[in-house]
Amino acid sequence: MRQVAGRKDEAEMEVKLINWTPEPERTVALAARLCYSSVGVEDLNANFTKEDEARFLDKLISLGHLSPLEHVSFTFAAEGVSRALTHQLVRHRIASYSQQSQRYVREDDFEFIVPPSIQRKPETLALFHRTMAQINEAYKTLAELVPKEDARYVLPQACETKIVFTFNARSLLNFFQHRLCTRAQWEIRQLAGLMLQEVRRQAPVLFAKAGATCETEGVCYEGELSCGRVSVVKKRSSGEDEVKAGIPRPGV
Ligand SMILES: Cc1cc2nc3c(=O)[nH]c(=O)nc-3n(C[C@H](O)[C@H](O)[C@H](O)COP(=O)(O)OP(=O)(O)OC[C@H]3O[C@@H](n4cnc5c(N)ncnc54)[C@H](O)[C@@H]3O)c2cc1C
Repeated sequence: MRQVAGRKDEAEMEVKLINWTPEPERTVALAARLCYSSVGVEDLNANFTKEDEARFLDKLISLGHLSPLEHVSFTFAAEGVSRALTHQLVRHRIASYSQQSQRYVREDDFEFIVPPSIQRKPETLALFHRTMAQINEAYKTLAELVPKEDARYVLPQACETKIVFTFNARSLLNFFQHRLCTRAQWEIRQLAGLMLQEVRRQAPVLFAKAGATCETEGVCYEGELSCGRVSVVKKRSSGEDEVKAGIPRPGV
């Protein structure tokens, strides 16, 4: 839920894929095939059906030969997300970011993101709203007295922000592995789920098996903190019902 300090406007997280390398799967497949071929890219392209391409990509990914995936990139625009989310997002170093600046943009009556756990109880929601309203008043007063870049120090992590970011396909697979895990924080997991839906429209084979390692490798690296989903994934072939087992589904 996203609201405006002092008002109750609700809006959803929005994530759009705004640009990407044309023919991403063809590009990756040709680059990879070139490694094993005596002829050039034009010849390879002429004698390579869509079915060959899909088979080849699937094999490439299952072998972990992932460097050709670096030739294609995807640019997203996200709005209605918190600064808590973008702080986690920008930890992914193999990507590029442009974020709305709190040095240049005034945050009077800023929008904020309300976590579901806070929404669920009237008393926590009321406390949250009171706090946002107080911060808003303090910010507006300070912004008249000191530069915006200093007034922003009172703003909360809940503050709504907008960000454009670009990942190559290899880095995206790593991002999905980390952020679609049920151990990832709820907001970035939601973002990762929406991003995966977007890229699958443009590159369904490249991202067919994207997800947490329990899904992609049948292993969990979370040790004692594991949600237990990995055992459910392993038993899937034996027909055990995940929902009955009470294990949360990842973001997609
Ligand atoms: C559930 C969860 C909990 C987390 N908790 C914390 C926490 O408590 N504290 C915290 O600080 N972070 C935390 N993180 C963030 C995490 O440690 C990573 O910083 C983040 O997920 C980015 O992953 P990455 O480094 O693989 O991605 P990228 O920075 O995109 O890097 C991609 C890959 O490139 C390689 N690489 C990149 N840079 C280098 C380098 N300098 N040297 C060598 N190899 C490199 C690595 O193989 C890396 O996996 C958490 C993440 C998750 C998913």
